[in-house]
Amino acid sequence: MKKKPYLWMMFVLLQISLLTIVSPTCNAAPFKKSPIKTLIVDGQNNHDQWAKITFMMKRYLEETGKFTVDVQRTKTTWNGKEYLTKYVIPGVSASVDLPKSQMDSSFHPNFKAYDVVICNFGWNAAPWPKETQADFDQFIKNGGGLVVLHAADNSFPEWSAYNQMIGIGGWGNRTEKDGPYVYFDLNNKEVRDSSPGRAGSHGPQKEFQITIRNANHPITKGMPTTWMHTQDEMYDRLRGPAENMEVLGTAFSAVENKGSGRHEPMLLTIKYGKGRVFHTPMGHADYSVNCVGFITSLLRGTQWAATGKVDIPIPADFPKSDLSQSRQFKD
Ligand SMILES: [Zn+2]
Repeated sequence: MKKKPYLWMMFVLLQISLLTIVSPTCNAAPFKKSPIKTLIVDGQNNHDQWAKITFMMKRYLEETGKFTVDVQRTKTTWNGKEYLTKYVIPGVSASVDLPKSQMDSSFHPNFKAYDVVICNFGWNAAPWPKETQADFDQFIKNGGGLVVLHAADNSFPEWSAYNQMIGIGGWGNRTEKDGPYVYFDLNNKEVRDSSPGRAGSHGPQKEFQITIRNANHPITKGMPTTWMHTQDEMYDRLRGPAENMEVLGTAFSAVENKGSGRHEPMLLTIKYGKGRVFHTPMGHADYSVNCVGFITSLLRGTQWAATGKVDIPIPADFPKSDLSQSRQFKD
């Protein structure tokens, strides 16, 4: 039987036209996983409001319709019992039966069941059990997402994998042995400074301006080049391995406000194995977390850590260069 090459040609042309039609649709809907399964871990934090901040982040994430959020909490007798008992999350223990800074040997979340983990631990938190640490390390290496806020970059100074994941951290006897200071100098040049010294400090709380250093990253794309953050502690002099790390945004830490005289990292990403990490040292208290800039960064950073992409828009009430904007959080 004679072959009919024109049939093949028509088949090929049909494939090409289908690809042309389908491609834009694929670009518009990049997310295979919806909603994004998110786990907030907490329980030991030197900030009184940590339980409220977990409660707030869970609501802000779930309100987008893009995330489901579970919480797993270590046993604790930490600061802020009044917040722990007021901001109760169904199914989450408000147990207070562990002495301060003691490891909860039963803490072992099933990280693999999630796309992204948000770490809301704080300064002087007890180490996680070794098996939990190893599982978490594997989870991120295999492509899991991590979000680190505020005092979570004080946690676990002895855990080298965690220091790699967060890029830079403060307090907990971190020094030059842990890696360089990372900042932008007065010429707006990124510096990695290995000079000796302790890591982590901050002046009195105040509003401060964020400067975007990479406006093409999915997390920051569309943000104004500068925007005003609500009252917060501005961490400075953070240091760490800083490998595979990118600074997306900074804030100027003025010497007259007991700061470093440097532009300090405020929005960061780190690649760890196949995993993506979004780190912000902002988020000291409820009024800091209610900043529309913080909320937007948290939502977009979490989506990016989970998927590598962002489709959460910059809201109309996003802060301006010299004007902060807050949401009212209703209990
Ligand atoms: Zn703080």
